[in-house]
Amino acid sequence: MTRRRAVTIVGAGTAGLTCALILARRGIDVFVVDAAARIERSVCGEYLCPAGVSTLEELDVMPLVEGAPPVLGMRLVSPAGRVVRSHFPRDGRHGVGLSLDKQAFLERLADAVVEAGGRIRFGWRVDSIQRLDDGWRVGAGRKRTPIECDVLIGADGRRSVVADAAGLLAEAGDRTRIAVRGFVNAFDDPERLGEMHLLPGGAYIGVNPIRRDEVNLTLVCDAEELRRRGGAEGALRQYAHDARDLYERHDWSTLRAIRGVTPVSSRVKRAVADRVALIGDASGFVDPLTGEGISIALWSGLAAAESVVSGLAPGADLVACLHRYGVERRAKYRAKAAVSRSFQWVIRRGWACEWIGHFLGARQERADAFIGIIGNNYTPSEGALALAGVKPAIP
Ligand SMILES: Cc1cc2nc3c(=O)[nH]c(=O)nc-3n(C[C@H](O)[C@H](O)[C@H](O)COP(=O)(O)OP(=O)(O)OC[C@H]3O[C@@H](n4cnc5c(N)ncnc54)[C@H](O)[C@@H]3O)c2cc1C
Repeated sequence: MTRRRAVTIVGAGTAGLTCALILARRGIDVFVVDAAARIERSVCGEYLCPAGVSTLEELDVMPLVEGAPPVLGMRLVSPAGRVVRSHFPRDGRHGVGLSLDKQAFLERLADAVVEAGGRIRFGWRVDSIQRLDDGWRVGAGRKRTPIECDVLIGADGRRSVVADAAGLLAEAGDRTRIAVRGFVNAFDDPERLGEMHLLPGGAYIGVNPIRRDEVNLTLVCDAEELRRRGGAEGALRQYAHDARDLYERHDWSTLRAIRGVTPVSSRVKRAVADRVALIGDASGFVDPLTGEGISIALWSGLAAAESVVSGLAPGADLVACLHRYGVERRAKYRAKAAVSRSFQWVIRRGWACEWIGHFLGARQERADAFIGIIGNNYTPSEGALALAGVKPAIP
């Protein structure tokens, strides 16, 4: 016995729930399954970049992040301790970022999906995916009734079983890198700036001050180095000691909720195939360094949903509509992905970090232009103009 659905989404994270919300609002029969028993606070820096805030506005879901404090810019710290303070540029495409409590946000988003008529089932770990002539069949263990659907959406993160089954996976994520998340209290009311501490050997710690009693820390480093430093907590503490003033400004006796995760990246050949689309991290993710994964998850969830809505209209060409989503996704993120990959080269070379820190620190407009690229207030080419002191024309 199987059940038939118009759309099945594997993964109830930011991307999957965003996509489900749009589909449900448009009256499409959408079924979301997730392996976890419930929504949990995943390993994530929980900073939403300015472009992501604009997507929340476009989705008309700003009440879901009510009370989330703003992030006005970034404090960048080089391995030698040089500090560059920057603010998101006011003439860019978007405003400022937000510090999220991502679990609370996702719980509210899931409620909105259900209210709009979508269905969500937790505790479903999808372990079999079969291509049919007119769609897909998805199974999750022997106890669950398989689901057949016209369109399958892979929103299942960096180890996507959907990408694998659809033949879209380029390579399994890199497990030589590992991420560790923890929370601490701050001694003082935090400035409304995020922080990025670059550390020797390509390690880094991102700091997102959600509240005084809840500062999110995420360390990314080589897995081998983490083992050498005594595991997740030992590495987080030691690296924080190595970083300028990170230890002194926070109460490390309150360090809690430490969790590690790997891989921190994923690569796919493309984001669509026959009646299947990948969104969020499942559609490819370079690295958390630029803090834009949530924003990409929101945008790709929205864009893929719109393509599905057009494709399921009577007489429409579903394959062509999904293909359009794939083209849009590539066009939107290709340049930024190249920039993000070049940052991976830079952070492994202390001299390059120091040179960039010196260049940005020499002029405030440069630092702001740089953070404008990171936050997607500027496209990379607009940001390059702003870095050269030329005011970019934003359409
Ligand atoms: C250390 C770290 C720090 C980060 N910091 C930031 C930041 O500050 N800002 C930012 O914007 N981004 C950040 N990111 C990236 C961000 O977390 C992701 O890009 C974003 O969460 C992707 O959302 P998603 O919905 O695509 O995937 P996920 O949030 O990973 O959701 C995938 C869902 O799929 C489910 N799933 C997986 N496999 C199956 C299966 N077989 N069957 C059913 N369900 C399945 C999972 O349970 C999960 O709920 C960070 C990432 C890391 C690793």
